[in-house]
Amino acid sequence: MEQEKNKVLKVNVVTPDGNVYEHNAAIVIAKTVAGEIGILPDHAPIIAPLAIDEVRIRRTDSDTHVDWIAVNGGIMEVRDNVLTIIADTAERERDIDVSRAERAKQRAEARIQEAREKQDIDQLSRAEVALHRAMNRIKVSKHR
Ligand code: ATP
Repeated sequence: MEQEKNKVLKVNVVTPDGNVYEHNAAIVIAKTVAGEIGILPDHAPIIAPLAIDEVRIRRTDSDTHVDWIAVNGGIMEVRDNVLTIIADTAERERDIDVSRAERAKQRAEARIQEAREKQDIDQLSRAEVALHRAMNRIKVSKHR
């Protein structure tokens, strides 16, 4: 029983800039491209592509504290109580520059408008992804 209580997930979030996050968690909730998933200690091994969304991490060092990370897609792997997320970019709620994200959102909206007028599908899909990224950062920044 005591052993059960002590089980934790070691969570690592890695980007090309380095390690963004490293803590022990009681539960992690992430959005895969197939839907939301909650990972507890002793979860079966999985590899899943993530959506551009927030990852919620309840840490073991506090009953109430939850960390939030804005991930730009990426891959999540769970194995042997280690949960690793590898993403192009990932920011913790407290590290998000909200005005930068607001500016990125406005630029993306302008590009979407322009792409619609030009009927440029490639520009439209790139701008929609950029908008999604900016809106995700804005959403995650509200958790701090
Ligand atoms: P921007 O147009 O503002 O650069 P972007 O979506 O094109 O936004 P990315 O290419 O996704 O930016 O990220 C480039 C780098 O900047 C990454 O290291 C990412 O973590 C960081 N970054 C981007 N936007 C923000 C933000 N609003 N707050 C903090 N870091 C950010």
